[in-house]
Amino acid sequence: MPINPLGVHALVFAGDTTPDRMTEIIDQTRAAGYDLLELSLHDSPNLDVADARSKLESAGLGIVCSRGLAFDADVSSEDPAVVSRGARLLHDSLQITHDLGGHHFTGALFSALGKYGRPLGSAGRANVVATLKDLAADAADKGMTLGLEVCNRYETNVVNTAADALRLADDIGADNVVIHLDTYHMNIEEDDLVRPVHLVGDRLGYVHIGENHRGYLGSGHLDFTAFFHALADIGYAGPITFESFSSAVVSPTLSNDLAIWRNLWDDGPALARHARAFITNRIEAGRGA
Ligand code: MN
Repeated sequence: MPINPLGVHALVFAGDTTPDRMTEIIDQTRAAGYDLLELSLHDSPNLDVADARSKLESAGLGIVCSRGLAFDADVSSEDPAVVSRGARLLHDSLQITHDLGGHHFTGALFSALGKYGRPLGSAGRANVVATLKDLAADAADKGMTLGLEVCNRYETNVVNTAADALRLADDIGADNVVIHLDTYHMNIEEDDLVRPVHLVGDRLGYVHIGENHRGYLGSGHLDFTAFFHALADIGYAGPITFESFSSAVVSPTLSNDLAIWRNLWDDGPALARHARAFITNRIEAGRGA
């Protein structure tokens, strides 16, 4: 059995989080054999938090929440009003994660999820650091951890490599801020899938597994054998969450932010079962057990 808790992103099953939809998502996550559900908070106005928490607890599932910010609510902006809206969104999202029973809030917590037309400036970066120091303190009071997801250059200009994320985490200077690596983004920005894992080492706190085109695992060209060897090298025991997107399951906001224009699969439950078997197989092979 894998030592890592295995998770699946809710957008494998559905694009919104109304109570009926959450029932389906939770049932399908459990049926596919996962330990935890990752919920993007892009649809949080439609989420009934108490109802979702009780369904998660009945199903015996853990919960991790993720999100990116928006260009009008962006803590990397140099406009104080925009930074303040971004900070409010982060603190509200942390509270929702806590109220759902989660201990881990991750994603592009440092910027909008989209293509920037310029590099990050020093004033914008200072706003990121100051905001995330406050958020980390709020998280620590709640016994929670923040993840900095390393995203590619078309989705943020703040953190594109593992080295960028380590520098940002150093500047925040809180021990409840961990690094979140995603193989889809690593394929675009890093030398390979091994060096960043070794560089991050015991500061790795969360992992997204996605193919180079974000479709079926094993249908693309990513070297998952090497990646899982690297996770075994550093003794990574944290969560590993499968992330995949197709135009067959759409969120009106997040799918557009992520440029999901193609149909890579139709059957989310079948995809999720396949991914869990694939990941389990690679973890066991990587450990040699
Ligand atoms: Mn990801």
